[in-house]
Amino acid sequence: MLSEKELRRYDRQVMMFGKEAQEKLKKAKVAIVGLGGLGSPISIYLTAAGIGQLFLIDEQKPELSNLNRQILYGEEDLDKKAKPVLAKEKLRQLNSEIKVRTYSKRIYRENIEDLLNEVDAVVDALDNFETRYLLNEFCVKKRKPLIHAAVEGFYGQITTILPGRTPCLNCLFPNPPKKKKFPIIGVTTGLLGVLQANEVIKLITGYGDNLMGKLFTYDLLHNKAECIDVKPNPSCPVCSGTFRLRRQ
Ligand SMILES: [Zn+2]
Repeated sequence: MLSEKELRRYDRQVMMFGKEAQEKLKKAKVAIVGLGGLGSPISIYLTAAGIGQLFLIDEQKPELSNLNRQILYGEEDLDKKAKPVLAKEKLRQLNSEIKVRTYSKRIYRENIEDLLNEVDAVVDALDNFETRYLLNEFCVKKRKPLIHAAVEGFYGQITTILPGRTPCLNCLFPNPPKKKKFPIIGVTTGLLGVLQANEVIKLITGYGDNLMGKLFTYDLLHNKAECIDVKPNPSCPVCSGTFRLRRQ
């Protein structure tokens, strides 16, 4: 049940999708993996919208070169605490009603189940494809929704993966990009992170349409956006089994 105070806080969004949807947000547990350029706006907007429990996962501390895009942190935060701990402090100032769990560690095959088993949805806010593939495999195996976004320069892409219904990350991108370090500007991570938060809110409330089976791409330098239909790869080593199971 929502308190009087919560109803006042979320008044403008309850106007749209109703109290029941707001209660669904309150009950939801969402993991944000990566608390950098994407994870900053995702966590801020999910906190503001009233997601009940956030699981924040990142092993790094903020560095000076992060500050052009990682808007959760300021100069006073540099090289002090791990990002999830700092993020929790900031997010609590915005909304003390929500629970924030912090995991200052990297996700590996060995700990992924412990970290993510409880959550209803996983948000991929990472900057490397190795860990993304691991998240994808886990989400496919456990049938958890995965909201993927990736950015480079002024380019961004986003899709929502629903295992058994949509292509997985491996279907869409079977080969990881070779580059380790790539250019990036805060406006791109800002926009894509907000879109990921939007996907989570729609997925949990059931309000509106999600980007399931669709890849939304943005070229912000030339103001071009495209939303293309994407299909599962029938021989995908990660998810093809889930579709076979469904057809039986
Ligand atoms: Zn696949």
